[in-house]
Amino acid sequence: TKDRLRDPALLRFQAFVAGEWCDAGSGGSLPVADPATGETLGTVPDCGADETRAAIAAAEAAFPAWRRTAPAERAAILERWNALILENAEDLAAIMTAEQGKPLAEARGEVAYGASFVKWFAEEARRITGDVFTAPVGDRRVLVLKEPVGVCAAITPWNFPIAMITRKVAPAFAAGCPIVVKPADLTPFSALALAVLAEQAGVPKGVFSVVTGQAAPIGAEMTGSETVRKLSFTGSTGVGRLLMAQSAPTIKRLSLELGGNAPFIVFDDADLDLAIAGVMASKFRNAGQTCVCANRILVQDGIHDRFVARLAEAAAGLRIGNGFEAGVAIGPLINDAASAKVMAHLDDALSRGARLVAGDPDAVRGRFVPPLVLTGADTGMRLAVEETFGPLAPLMRFSREEDAIAIANATPFGLASYFFTSDIRRAWRVGEALEFGMVGLNTGTVSMEAAPFGGVKQSGLGREGSAYGIDEYLELKSLHMGGL
Ligand code: ADP
Repeated sequence: TKDRLRDPALLRFQAFVAGEWCDAGSGGSLPVADPATGETLGTVPDCGADETRAAIAAAEAAFPAWRRTAPAERAAILERWNALILENAEDLAAIMTAEQGKPLAEARGEVAYGASFVKWFAEEARRITGDVFTAPVGDRRVLVLKEPVGVCAAITPWNFPIAMITRKVAPAFAAGCPIVVKPADLTPFSALALAVLAEQAGVPKGVFSVVTGQAAPIGAEMTGSETVRKLSFTGSTGVGRLLMAQSAPTIKRLSLELGGNAPFIVFDDADLDLAIAGVMASKFRNAGQTCVCANRILVQDGIHDRFVARLAEAAAGLRIGNGFEAGVAIGPLINDAASAKVMAHLDDALSRGARLVAGDPDAVRGRFVPPLVLTGADTGMRLAVEETFGPLAPLMRFSREEDAIAIANATPFGLASYFFTSDIRRAWRVGEALEFGMVGLNTGTVSMEAAPFGGVKQSGLGREGSAYGIDEYLELKSLHMGGL
């Protein structure tokens, strides 16, 4: 991988703890594999409780000065970080494709998307305001101050190795919080490259740490710490639930961005071209490994057959292969367990009467799973209740709007949802009826730095990005001026 890089120093086999690059962790080192080839790309220190504690202590020590830094200075650091990410975009994309597998074009897209949060929160750093009012009793003024919550911790997933970090770290910095990040053990190199650039951008020692290693001991230390006032997590609902329980004794603030089970509804009056473009983007981006991927595609009777034909054709046209090869649209899944899950969902659906209309299961080669399109899926199948997290597109047929809404909402999850219609009244009706944190109307994408991202129900707590995202890192304090 180093050969592909303009600046090989971006690929670090070290952790970044308390402002120091360290070669070894208390547990030795851990290999990191290329999911396309299975080859080991390198190793990272296997850190545990000790390194996490050191990172938290350094963050605590750095906090008083960091919170007092002029907002314009924090904004300038974030602007420099953003510029460095963009200058090094090609290298960051190559590191990401190597460790995560996504096609290089998508990796480039994620670098730009990840940087957009840094830029956004550089701007927001200047806009942290407060409030003042006369209390109802009249002889008192109340000032509402916004203060940084304090030392933060973040645990991030492998599917967006850069963006899920910048979406947490940039608002923390803007608010004046230090933050300790535990990246996914499958994709630590992207996180470490971000740390190299953050250091170059002038982030003070201790304000940012990237602790690589095993999840459980690092997570236990982060959640158990009284110093850590806030935890932001993106990952599975099961782990989110565990971290929430572990955070209960210290009453931590939590942002949780957990699993989804996105419905994608196509009404008879939909623009078919838009619906096909939307489902391709929503279903097959990152080989189906996003928490906002369409998981249940509901198609109304009148458009069903035309939609099936177009989707089958479009899916069959996606090239699958190593993400570094030109023209590849679907890379390998992250590991063998991921492809086993897709195949289990496929087998279950076929055994319950679904029909395969695109994709050949015999063409599956280990982690390389081609796009698969099923018709005749129903709510009793595993793929309807679990996130498939792979390039399997199940279509369910429906007749009535109210049935589609009922099916869409019949899940404990509530992250993203999508629907396609050209009827303005239906647009309002369905948009309001969907119990999800995000709704895409005539679009298959809902991720951008300017809009709040997050879920309801068991998809999580809090919102990331947008003008609201910084609130996750701020506490309100009311200062009462009495006796006036
Ligand atoms: P995914 O299914 O996307 O891998 P996970 O929830 O397993 O989702 O992983 C998301 C992040 O949570 C990763 O950084 C992973 O290492 C971390 N993680 C997994 N288990 C634990 C745990 N017990 N404590 C803390 N972090 C964990």
